Amino acid sequence: ALKETKQGWYLFYEEALKDQLLEESELENVFGKALRSGEFFIQIQPKYSFATGRLIGGEALVRWKHPEKGLLTPSQFIPLFEKHNLLIPLDMYVLKLVCKLLKRWEEEGKPLLPISVNQSRAHLLVTDYEESLVSLVDHFNVDHHLMEFELTETLFLHDMTHLASVLTTLRSQGFLVSLDDFGSGYSSLTMLKDVQIDVIKMDQGFFTDLTSNEQGRVVIQHVIAMAKDLGITTIAEGVESEEQARMLASMGCDGVQGYFYSQPLEVSEYEQLLADDTPRCFL
Ligand code: C2E
Ligand code: MG
Ligand code: MG
Ligand code: MG
Repeated sequence: ALKETKQGWYLFYEEALKDQLLEESELENVFGKALRSGEFFIQIQPKYSFATGRLIGGEALVRWKHPEKGLLTPSQFIPLFEKHNLLIPLDMYVLKLVCKLLKRWEEEGKPLLPISVNQSRAHLLVTDYEESLVSLVDHFNVDHHLMEFELTETLFLHDMTHLASVLTTLRSQGFLVSLDDFGSGYSSLTMLKDVQIDVIKMDQGFFTDLTSNEQGRVVIQHVIAMAKDLGITTIAEGVESEEQARMLASMGCDGVQGYFYSQPLEVSEYEQLLADDTPRCFL
């Protein structure tokens, strides 16, 4: 009843706002504490070449070992972090973990294959963001060719010109850039017109019905061919069956990442793969 008077509404909003602010600063505290106590860690999912069957690199995927809630996956916290401006610090932290790992592998004489980290495309519109990426990687003295940035498509971005120039800068410094979740909906084709990238990661949803959808097959076949003409590598992500893998390989897709070959692995498990160069992607 109070809410129905003008003053009531005001009080109601003020309360709501207070709650929100409280939650926000609380979230920041929780996040800061989690960072400091090492609750965030990465798993690495292997990527394989269809042509050789061999490991070609891995993708770092963040996880949160929450003291009360247990193991949380990205979908349980990334959207919230993004909303509250905590995703950039998290992505920087993940990048730092990957840099340290690559450096250690180099020191231990392990074979060096690229690792990719995810970056929301929105980050790249933050002024000088690319410079913070470069200076972090350079701080750890990691070879740029070993670092791949996967741009996730959470947003429709209008400032293609700026994005194009940021990516040009990163690529001219030797970093690899890939377009993540291709075919999942955010104007992927438009981006290819204006922006230069190294890799297209085709989203699972893009080819999931491949075996039954003949029209879909034509589309995918042409996307793969187009990528080839543009000098872009194609990776199919979320491949769960041999049938899918065979079909994608026969269409000229270059690489694969998915449960059929491997789940995301603990770092130590991935290191065992790195040390043993036998082909694992059989068709
Ligand atoms: P993504 O970059 O497209 O990563 C692939 C996701 O698909 C991962 O989920 C992976 O575990 C999952 N996946 C791989 N193969 C299969 C499969 O065969 N079947 C199925 N059903 N799923 C498969 P995950 O780890 O839960 O990550 C979800 C998304 O969260 C990622 O999608 C990425 O967009 C985002 N993400 C993960 N780590 C980070 C990070 O450090 N920073 C940012 N900004 N985003 C991240
Ligand atoms: Mg990704
Ligand atoms: Mg993806
Ligand atoms: Mg995906």
